[in-house]
Amino acid sequence: MSSLRNFVGGAWVPPRGGGWMDVVEPATGAVYARVADSGGADVDEAVRAAGEAFAGWAATPAAERSRVMLRVAALIEDNLEALARAESVDSGKPVALARRVDIPRAAANFRFFATAILHTRSDLHDTDGAALNYTLRRPLGVVGCISPWNLPLYLFTWKIAPAIAAGNCVVGKPSEVTPVTASMLCDLCNEAGLPPGVLNVVHGAGAGAGKALVEHAGVRAISFTGGTATGRAIAATAGPAFKKVSLELGGKNANVVFADADVEEAAREACRAAFTNQGQVCLCGSRVFVQRGVYDAFVDRLVAHARALRVGDPLDEQTEQGALVSRAHFEKVRDAVERAKKDGARALCGGAPADAPNARCAQGVFYPPTVLADAPASCEAMQEEIFGPVVTVTPFDTEEEALALANGVRYGLAAMVWTSDLNRAHRVAARLEAGIVWVNCWMVRDLRTPFGGMKESGVGREGGDEALRFFTEMKNVCLRMGGE
Ligand code: NAD
Repeated sequence: MSSLRNFVGGAWVPPRGGGWMDVVEPATGAVYARVADSGGADVDEAVRAAGEAFAGWAATPAAERSRVMLRVAALIEDNLEALARAESVDSGKPVALARRVDIPRAAANFRFFATAILHTRSDLHDTDGAALNYTLRRPLGVVGCISPWNLPLYLFTWKIAPAIAAGNCVVGKPSEVTPVTASMLCDLCNEAGLPPGVLNVVHGAGAGAGKALVEHAGVRAISFTGGTATGRAIAATAGPAFKKVSLELGGKNANVVFADADVEEAAREACRAAFTNQGQVCLCGSRVFVQRGVYDAFVDRLVAHARALRVGDPLDEQTEQGALVSRAHFEKVRDAVERAKKDGARALCGGAPADAPNARCAQGVFYPPTVLADAPASCEAMQEEIFGPVVTVTPFDTEEEALALANGVRYGLAAMVWTSDLNRAHRVAARLEAGIVWVNCWMVRDLRTPFGGMKESGVGREGGDEALRFFTEMKNVCLRMGGE
């Protein structure tokens, strides 16, 4: 059984306290590795290694930082199969999904920021001929990157790539539930020639390693993706220490389908938006609102698409719905559906745990795509993130009613609108309280656009220039121009 140690100063080191946690394959329930259960001393060691590497890395020309990062991207691509398989075993997601989305996007994150730093620009302001004002941007130093389990390598690289590109040194804390591909990435970084200490990884639980990283006085910024409650705790710790904080949190995303939409296409994409990665994507459309004239036709199609999804062994190439990420999460999803039924919801499909797809997966945790109708707008299933393969469907009559329903939650991460009326698309997109609105599509991403949530879905924006700005600090220089 492999032991995932911490990656500090370019070398693998065991946790100082000697603690380990099991790594479980959710599709089978088998413990197949153990991971360091780190604490404050391990974080301290990693922050020190990062601090020692900082001056050298910050002074490395952008072109050289770019070259090293492009080599990391190429190595991720060269190791696509191994990484996809590891991610599938670790998280329960279909291997085909990991191969098609997670791993290529991890490489794309490195490529994007490796080339972005070759094209930065800065402004100079001529103050009426009396002075020149310009702004310098400098890396912060040691920064902390904390990521969740749902898109393990993709979201980890989404943080560390801009941080490293901007000249910082990173202490990363991947999710303890899915630690494997972050460890594989460390080996690839060594192979690519990333100097020791530029990327350090400390494994462990949120309450141990994660909390210690947020509290560490040597860490200048925290980039966090995870649940809203965790984000609130991180903000409460980082705020008084004046650390920069970027928080990408939970969502309860609305998908609004108007009667003038292409109903077949909207239903097909609503199914994808609801159930991709077993509904464990922060951007999943978990509440669908459908204009009454097409409600029945839409729901029939959505249910047919949901039923057709193949629940199976994540390592089977044909599988479209794998295992949920852990037994604890499976129980949370199952219990949330039971409470929704008590609140009046009706399962049109799914609604109870799925049978194991084969003998290998007899002890796995599988839940089928579930469509719930008649859930009251104020009930828990309509208000709180379930983060599983569960979607609600609700009819509406007017645009105002749709907006009130869509915006009637504390979250504001993403939203979708389906309509063939261009004016309505713009009007509704402008009024939806969400950090990103997709019109007649879902999950189309351009890495140049700022990404993040409104309301309790987050603070700050990641992606593109915003991410590079986040990982730098600014200094304005005002130079008086000579005169008589
Ligand atoms: P989580 O908040 O439980 O954990 C996320 C990470 O934070 C893990 O690495 C965990 O160990 C760490 N952590 C936990 N407590 C901590 C603490 N007190 N201090 C520091 N670190 C701590 O989230 P999760 O269950 O891993 O992920 C699911 C959540 O992530 C969902 O709510 C989902 O919506 C959200 N998410 C958001 C986005 C986004 O971009 N907005 C993307 C993906 C997932």
